[in-house]
Amino acid sequence: MKIAVLTSGGDSAGMNAVVRGVVRIGIVKGCETWVVREGYEGLVRGNEENVQQPPYDNIPASKDVTIADPGFLKTLRFGDGTLLRDGTFDHHYGRSLKGRYIIRVGWDDVRGYLPQGGTLIGTARSKAFRTHEGRLKAAFNMIKEGIDALVVCGGDGSLTGADVFRSEWPGLVAELHASGKITEAQATQHGHLKIVGLVGSIDNDMSMTDLTIGAPTALHRICEAIDSINSTAASHKRAFVLEVMGRHCGWLALMAGVAGGADFIFIPERPPEAGRWQEKMCEAISRHRSVGKRKTIVIIAEGAHDSSLAPIKADDVKEVLSETLGLDTRVTTLGHTQRGGRPCYYDRVLPTLQAVEAVDALLEANPDTPSYMIGISENKITRVPLMEAVELTRNVAKAISEKDFAKAMSLRDPEFAETLDGFFHTSWLMKEPYLPIQKRLRVAFMHVGAPAGGMNAATRAAVRYCLYQGHTPLAVYNGFNGLLDDNITPLTWLGVDNWMARGGSELGTNRTLPSTNIGQVASKFQEHDINALMLIGGFEAFTSLVELEEAREAYPPLCVPVVHLPATISNNVPVTEYSLGSDTSLNALVDACDAIKQSAAASRSRVFVVETQGGRCGYIATMGALATGACIVYTPEDGTNLDMLRQDVKYMRRRYGIDKKGKAEGRLIIRSEAASSVYTTEVITKMFKEEGGALFDSRMVSLGHTLQGNIPSPIDRTRAVRLSLKSMHFIEEQAEQLAKLPWKQRWTHKGADAVITIQGTKVKWVGVKEMVEQADIKNRRGKTQWWTKYKQMVEMLVAREQLVN
Ligand code: ATP
Repeated sequence: MKIAVLTSGGDSAGMNAVVRGVVRIGIVKGCETWVVREGYEGLVRGNEENVQQPPYDNIPASKDVTIADPGFLKTLRFGDGTLLRDGTFDHHYGRSLKGRYIIRVGWDDVRGYLPQGGTLIGTARSKAFRTHEGRLKAAFNMIKEGIDALVVCGGDGSLTGADVFRSEWPGLVAELHASGKITEAQATQHGHLKIVGLVGSIDNDMSMTDLTIGAPTALHRICEAIDSINSTAASHKRAFVLEVMGRHCGWLALMAGVAGGADFIFIPERPPEAGRWQEKMCEAISRHRSVGKRKTIVIIAEGAHDSSLAPIKADDVKEVLSETLGLDTRVTTLGHTQRGGRPCYYDRVLPTLQAVEAVDALLEANPDTPSYMIGISENKITRVPLMEAVELTRNVAKAISEKDFAKAMSLRDPEFAETLDGFFHTSWLMKEPYLPIQKRLRVAFMHVGAPAGGMNAATRAAVRYCLYQGHTPLAVYNGFNGLLDDNITPLTWLGVDNWMARGGSELGTNRTLPSTNIGQVASKFQEHDINALMLIGGFEAFTSLVELEEAREAYPPLCVPVVHLPATISNNVPVTEYSLGSDTSLNALVDACDAIKQSAAASRSRVFVVETQGGRCGYIATMGALATGACIVYTPEDGTNLDMLRQDVKYMRRRYGIDKKGKAEGRLIIRSEAASSVYTTEVITKMFKEEGGALFDSRMVSLGHTLQGNIPSPIDRTRAVRLSLKSMHFIEEQAEQLAKLPWKQRWTHKGADAVITIQGTKVKWVGVKEMVEQADIKNRRGKTQWWTKYKQMVEMLVAREQLVN
């Protein structure tokens, strides 16, 4: 199959990862791969008659490199890797790309694509493609090159264009045949167009997918801006109104509002009441100021309006804040800075996984299958009918224009509504708490284990929720040691205000378990009248939960709801596919590896062996390898042995042997700290140095505690809020259930202790018994781990099998 990939509409971070993924997985799966420059415009323009394609068969490999399948090597067409990399398209094999829009590409043509923002193959908004004439030309240009499979990465407009093209295709082919532009054989061979859409859009405005490619990076940029503005706002007691992108979609504004701890937000899906929003906003903000808050942040989506659809602009908000509240107010419009720049971790892995799914969907397509859009639901890559998704997306804009805001909200994914609810609960300061006194609880919060990004954000959200409802939030400082030392104080609304963007652990965290002195722990529960406990942490938090549950029968004060919210950079808590902090950590890893790779290629060809934390769980190493394009990953799950190392050396020698002579290349190996106690990072580095000879040098670097990250990533912050509030709902429900039981039955009652998990597309509560059954206690990880399959993908993306065998 000949597959072409194009990027269309507005650019977004991660589009390059799509191109890289489609090209590489396409080649590995035996396809010929092409890129189309400048979106649909390139398809319409095609290739000029007299322009030659580069010489695909002329593979420059060094003499000492022999590979079993030279045919495959030819298909890989390891070029010099400069095609399209610098955006000028001019130096490939000394030939100009002028007049060529549909270009066959090889493996190394997409080298270095992962860390680059925007789209290196260009994008455009094509008027011509909107016309029948334009699409006829596009079909002709594709058939001329023998292509009838297309991956389109763009927004809803681009995906609509793709569907129109596919449905018209048989007619276009017939027309081309009738006019003699293509032969009978060509018409028969290309009677059906296979098309797959990937959503590249910074707005996250597509229905039937939780996230679009580029939205997480845009959110990173916005949060960086808010974090910077926060300090100056507090210094001068100022108010800032921040305008972010989003015409019909308030996702960026909402997520930024939550992640940045904003005071008020304006989004199109849930507009404030016409004529009353000024009063409501001023009430919220003056309450915040009345408890001593020194700064005010209001976030407004560019498409914001009130319930009568009258636009609300940043300057309108500024005027109200200045005039009514007398605040020194500034407007900041982030504009195109939000388009991204360097893609964050998520915008490297998501497009890579989606590209793999896209190629599979094309290979499986037949005339009866619908065109698919590749999406993601929680943690699962999905295929959904493209037109259904586009139509639902259009319906949101339609519902808003008809003022049916409830419908608009219902068409967004469930995370959207939950996060909006989370924003209200964490930003609104109640005059009187919501719950009657008899329903109010004393809820203790404790961090257990090592620090992880998002621990503070989760605590802040739960504390704010407690205060909204009327519960008393109690900080237990320094884990179970702190509990035993009575290091417990109530937390306040303002006291946690800046915690969203704080890394580390504001409560202090350590690895002490309740079994240190379980009797004393129970007596402290009684002494401080603790009605519920939220444990935020990793494997130790889980172990603590198990110990507390086991002790219930012997120690009645422990018969209260206890929840564990997983937070650990290692992501090694059983059952759940996601722990808070792992996204922050992977972003820290990606940042470090980009710098290392650059250094490795700057002087001479060098392999860097990068050691990661993660205990006996290879999650960070494997996902980090996928996001940085590392060649080899060593994990504790797979261990390390001599046969493996021999193959790895063989791979690396062949790979460097194929590189263009005289051009330095940096490559990464990622090694989990506990992958082997014998073949350590130092041993492996020395081995590669020795075996690399004249081909490459090697160096090692240990990322150590830098992987705990500095400021938590926006994804960790927003998920922290959502999961934390779900945990609070669970605590309230369980407390109510327990209260209904006779005292003695509470001792044996199961189900009040649980872990909040993400499994595939669902957020699920899992009881202690099931958690223990799924745990590999010795290795401190789950018995099964969802991500282990991705090691194979890391290897596919570097053609390991082809080069080693
Ligand atoms: P963004 O979200 O950044 O706006 P988009 O993909 O929605 O991205 P559009 O400008 O709407 O951006 O669409 C991109 C291109 O897709 C258009 O320039 C046009 O070439 C093509 N296209 C859009 N709609 C159609 C359509 N109905 N028929 C044919 N082609 C279309």
